[in-house]
Amino acid sequence: MTFQDTTVSQLDAIVNAASNAFTTYGASPAATRAALLRGLADALESQRTALVALADQETHLGTARLNGELDRTSFQLRGFATQVEQGVPFAFTDDPAVAGAPPVGHPHLMRVRVPVGPVAMFSASNFPFAFSVLGGDTAAALAAGCPVVVKAHRGHRALSHAVADLARGVVAAQGLPTGVFGMVDGRGTEVGMSLVQHPLIAAAAFTGSVRGGLALEKAAQSRPRPIPFFGELGSVNPLVALPSALAAKGAELAQGLAGSITMGCGQFCTSPGVIVVPQGAPGDAFVAQLADALKASTPHHMLTAQMRAGFDAGRAAWATHPGLTTVLGETAAESQPPRPFLAQINAAGFLADPALHEEVFGPAALVVRVAGTAEAIEVLQAIGGSLTVTIWGADEPSEEVVALVRAASQVAGRVLFSGYPTGVAVSAGQQHGGPFPSSTQPGSTSVGWAAMDRFLRPVALQDAPGWLAARQGQPC
Ligand code: NAP
Repeated sequence: MTFQDTTVSQLDAIVNAASNAFTTYGASPAATRAALLRGLADALESQRTALVALADQETHLGTARLNGELDRTSFQLRGFATQVEQGVPFAFTDDPAVAGAPPVGHPHLMRVRVPVGPVAMFSASNFPFAFSVLGGDTAAALAAGCPVVVKAHRGHRALSHAVADLARGVVAAQGLPTGVFGMVDGRGTEVGMSLVQHPLIAAAAFTGSVRGGLALEKAAQSRPRPIPFFGELGSVNPLVALPSALAAKGAELAQGLAGSITMGCGQFCTSPGVIVVPQGAPGDAFVAQLADALKASTPHHMLTAQMRAGFDAGRAAWATHPGLTTVLGETAAESQPPRPFLAQINAAGFLADPALHEEVFGPAALVVRVAGTAEAIEVLQAIGGSLTVTIWGADEPSEEVVALVRAASQVAGRVLFSGYPTGVAVSAGQQHGGPFPSSTQPGSTSVGWAAMDRFLRPVALQDAPGWLAARQGQPC
């Protein structure tokens, strides 16, 4: 199947249609938005078999994982529909007038939220359903009342077009303006850049590499009218195993951790990349158990040849690093799926080389051996911003544990006290996005119901006329 890149004039027409659609969709009631979101979920599910087969052909992620991802995608769409029906985007603060001179006295103020306008949405390579054409960003923007223009990911082009066709069908069947959903396709450096720079685009959402994200963020901010750029970039997701956790169930944790490192061939944004383990015999045993479990695993092919090349380069740099000891270092021919890789270093060596603090995307992890909690904290601080930090064994609030939890909260968007960081629940309490580089806007989340907040902007209505106040937060 061949696909044409979107031309400059086509892109302009698609964004203009989104802008035209915004005049009505932005003011649409809950029922309209919820029906659209549910309709999209139903349509995805109705085409499940064909879509999953196409996704598997293009991504190698396997039908079990892809079916699960499709379930999550329709769950997200329906979940946002419920949020809209519950009035979340229309919630407002009513602040009645107070008689008298300021600062005590003030006029009647209603703090409402309005949708920002057409959103540019960059599909992620590693979630062909859940963070692509009808993924979390699209669902959140539509729930907020914003039309969406998707930039398809070239790693799953046929799937993107199939899902976009299906979405356009739902929009038409519901009698909504065509521009509520649009998609462009082509090189990021051309089509993606033009999209972010288009004057009618009001915000952009992105999941991908630090390099691509920074280039697009710069474009978003260099426009005559800069726009918010919600980028989810790299993340190392350090995990700290305290001695008590290893003593209680080290072997079980090692087994589960190997599954987390190799899940999706290590191509999860939350894949654990640095494992902080205490020095000494229990730590040695844990590392050996982890290596055994990794050795027994059989990752599938990576998403693209480019990602495989990136993994091989990162892995080779670790394997030849003078301060690192390779624990598990099997290699595989390019035509075969990659083998998991595990290396080990002490805290001083890790802290001394900033190159080791970077993400290696794929089934690889680096064990950092520490003398105690103080060194573990230094490791977290050296890595910096991350989507997650996992701490095993923080059961008692000792001074050291409290300091570790505080340090983890400073660098991560989500701190886990059990389990593994892969697998991100879509719910009200979720926070997916921490300090840079894990997010360009750490005050926001790209997963969970709060993701809708990115596409709503507060407006204070001062002494609003009766008809406007009576809309109770519903934009006009
Ligand atoms: P990517 O290369 O950043 O691509 C994501 C999107 O951005 C694509 O649509 C791409 O268009 C566009 N793009 C890339 N560079 C651009 C630039 N300079 N200017 C304008 N647009 C640009 O990410 P990817 O393809 O998903 O994966 C590449 C690497 O990103 C991975 O190997 C991994 O290291 C990292 N990654 C990290 C995460 C995470 O969450 N931590 C997730 C996915 C990927 P094109 O298709 O034309 O390139």
